[in-house]
Amino acid sequence: GLAIGIVGLPNVGKSTLFNAITRAGALAANYPFATIEPNVGRVMVPDERLGALSQVFTKGERVPPIIPTFVEFVDIAGLVRGASQGEGLGNQFLANIREVDAIAHVVRCFEDGNVIHVANRVDPLDDIETINTELILADLSGLEKRVQNLQKKAKGGDREAREQLAVGEQILKVLGEGKPARAGTYEGAVPREFGLITTKPVIYVANVGEDHLTEDNDHVRRVREFAAAEGAQVVKISAQIEGELAEMPEDEARAFLHDLGVEESGLDQLVKVGYQTLGLITFITSGEKEVRAWTIHDGETAPEAAGEIHSDLQRGFIRAEVIEWNKMVEAGGWAGAKSKGWVRTEGKDYVMKDGDIMNVLHNM
Ligand code: GDP
Repeated sequence: GLAIGIVGLPNVGKSTLFNAITRAGALAANYPFATIEPNVGRVMVPDERLGALSQVFTKGERVPPIIPTFVEFVDIAGLVRGASQGEGLGNQFLANIREVDAIAHVVRCFEDGNVIHVANRVDPLDDIETINTELILADLSGLEKRVQNLQKKAKGGDREAREQLAVGEQILKVLGEGKPARAGTYEGAVPREFGLITTKPVIYVANVGEDHLTEDNDHVRRVREFAAAEGAQVVKISAQIEGELAEMPEDEARAFLHDLGVEESGLDQLVKVGYQTLGLITFITSGEKEVRAWTIHDGETAPEAAGEIHSDLQRGFIRAEVIEWNKMVEAGGWAGAKSKGWVRTEGKDYVMKDGDIMNVLHNM
């Protein structure tokens, strides 16, 4: 699955957002360092296609269960100015952040005199720079040690070490210029063992009060400019509103959003942008037994998608029956779709598309 790590300075709204995610509803405390324990919460990936398909495959009283995919959010505590110098950026922090696929960087864009800001003023670009600097410094110190080791191994004639060393030195140069590792291009793949943080894509989460959910304030505008220059995405949310939404039944939540003038909850947007940022798509398996979503990388083939369901299905893959989800809804089921000639037979080279329904034919 996909895991997104939530980072940001203290008091920007991380816990508020995270509580909305877990629906834990624990009270967000109004002082810095309130978030101590890293935590994991799961959010369903919203997908209206699954509901429509569940109706198609309902037989009498039997409604097939919907099994969505999930995104994991990891609350990564402990980032403050100077953290990488040993004021708090501990091993736990590094272990947590190294595990995630992408980073959601929460930035305070709301004004509220009652909520202390760690630097005593709301300045999102300064906050972003503080966090980014800490992450770059963390990568620098980790990579410097690794490069020293690689130098020794390379001298001993280790060929792989020599190749990794070349990439490592190029990355050190980029980090040394105060840039994240993802800003550079390297001859050769960046080894996973480097454990770098700044290679991961970042989504900036601009946390606003409900008064700025529809129209941006200046803080949000500045974040958008900064992110655009970096090629990063911005999701504007109100962590407080997300918390309220998390407590409501779905239809009530929809009406509440409508009254606020927005179509989609911030969390849903964040999940979608996370998908886009990482180049992920959804395919579906569908029938009277269940309607189920699966996450794969854009560009993966039918056998690779089958492997997501079960490794045996990839090994024993013969061919796949594939149909677009909306065609299935229109046809009203497999039998109807087949009689209309809408179910295609695809082979091993077929590249999956978002919203494909697949039935794997295999020899297992
Ligand atoms: P964290 O330290 O980043 O985890 O921040 P918290 O989630 O604990 O939030 C710090 C304080 O800011 C809490 O008192 C929240 O209620 C408050 N807060 C969070 N989001 C908003 C918002 O959108 N508007 C306002 N006015 N306060 C917020």
